[in-house]
Amino acid sequence: MPDLRNEIEKRRTFAIISHPDAGKTTLTEKFLLYGGAIQLAGAVKGKKNARHAVSDWMEIEKQRGISVTSSVMQFQYEGYCINILDTPGHQDFSEDTYRTLMAADSAVMVIDAAKGVEPQTRKLFKVCMMRDIPIFTFINKMDRDAQSPYDLLDEIEKELGIGTYPMNWPIGSGIDFKGVYDREKSEIIAFEGDKELRGQHEVKAHEIDLNDASLEGLLGENLYNTLRDDVELLDGAGYEFDLDQVRHGKLSPVFFGSALTNFGVEPFLESFLRMTTAPLPRQTADGVVDPFSQDFSAFVFKIQANMNKAHRDRIAFMRICSGRFEKGMEVTHVQGGRKMKLAQPQQMMAQSREIIDEAYAGDIIGVFDPGIFSIGDTICTGKKVQFEGIPTFAPEFFCRVAQKDTMKRKQFVKGTTQIAQEGAIQIFQEIASGMEEVIVGVVGTLQFDVFKYRMENEYNVEIRMENLPYSLIRWIDTPDVDLKKLNLTSDTKKVQDIRGRYLLLFSNEWSIRWALEHNDGLELSEFSR
Ligand code: GDP
Repeated sequence: MPDLRNEIEKRRTFAIISHPDAGKTTLTEKFLLYGGAIQLAGAVKGKKNARHAVSDWMEIEKQRGISVTSSVMQFQYEGYCINILDTPGHQDFSEDTYRTLMAADSAVMVIDAAKGVEPQTRKLFKVCMMRDIPIFTFINKMDRDAQSPYDLLDEIEKELGIGTYPMNWPIGSGIDFKGVYDREKSEIIAFEGDKELRGQHEVKAHEIDLNDASLEGLLGENLYNTLRDDVELLDGAGYEFDLDQVRHGKLSPVFFGSALTNFGVEPFLESFLRMTTAPLPRQTADGVVDPFSQDFSAFVFKIQANMNKAHRDRIAFMRICSGRFEKGMEVTHVQGGRKMKLAQPQQMMAQSREIIDEAYAGDIIGVFDPGIFSIGDTICTGKKVQFEGIPTFAPEFFCRVAQKDTMKRKQFVKGTTQIAQEGAIQIFQEIASGMEEVIVGVVGTLQFDVFKYRMENEYNVEIRMENLPYSLIRWIDTPDVDLKKLNLTSDTKKVQDIRGRYLLLFSNEWSIRWALEHNDGLELSEFSR
């Protein structure tokens, strides 16, 4: 039997976050190429065809050729066993995207060098910060015209509120991109792509000492002088490198590169793997759980409904927090209060799903779920533990939803409640009202489509949806708040969530500030635990 400690120490589990088009897919693909998990570039990318072919989960996924779920990919590289959690972008952005970050131990943030910090990066980043997980920044597309590296770092620090430490420094960008200066090794890695090569072939990088006499000839006088000044400036000012700060998510190591031309990807991966840690202890209601414990434990961070009407089965995705998982092992489902066997454990390898026999702390497994798991549930052997819950994230889009046929009230209530319990939508109600109408909140509009589709196909209820003008929501944290006494703008709405907690819906930031300024002691929060 493989050594438990050894196996777990090899594990690195991280999420990749970015705004759509920054190059997340391209970077992931290069990682997989290094690990030998895929042979051909383009294998991850073909979202429309590749995923379509392997995904038999959701009709809607097939119809639209998109991946509704975030996928997990595992590969081996230089003795590490790496789990990449992909976070979907674009229109398929959903609460799952946020929850996926709960399963990761660190995050790689990909930023487009021309665009800097973009809205979706900002959103995902907030969740990483909430957990203090290490964040590594890859500033991509240096082979295109880029913003000044100083401005990019400044933007990350100001907009995201995290320190930055450039691990390398770019020399020019776009047509003039000559490579990067590796600060640790005091070496230049030259970018040798010419016009024809760019974007099509792997770039050969070679290393030159900063004091090499031929350097000025290679870079030209201007870039050479700029580089010398930059290096001096960087060494003199800026943050000190502090691994401890990195590991606590206070300082982000920054790398410049170009995923498409394969420039700077391997040095990034290597540095990143050295700086991140194997799975760390996780917090439970009564203390921490050691990942190396002989007892297995895991929590559910995502539930994927199967669209097969005949059997309403689902896949529950779990992050293993401690010990070893073996196929067919008996575990306790803590919230359900009973013992069970986990059937058909699956793991994602690049683009296919495989049935697996064993998995370790740090790994993600998908388990057949007959409808008993909820998001955040804990499964374990040995002493019962219960991991900290997964927060509920603030929805940004709201709809008023009612059934078209009032005779279908029962199915309507059942459908909305079950889909909300799975975590696919959030439901809210007017204070002290019934369930004839609900307000559905989501973080990505695709969730509305999935919800409507499922109501009609799984629960046989036609629904009417009306968009609401709210975009911000805050849970009221003040204990014993008197709702009637709250002084709010006329466009603020008071609602209740499925667990009876009070919330406010706002149309803009201004109304939130108004609420805070006009109600002494009012406490509002963006997440709810
Ligand atoms: P994602 O939406 O973040 O997954 O982004 P993709 O990886 O799909 O990349 C978006 C587009 O940018 C694609 O056309 C890529 O070929 C291109 N791209 C990605 N990385 C680079 C890069 O380093 N340089 C250039 N020039 N283009 C890139």
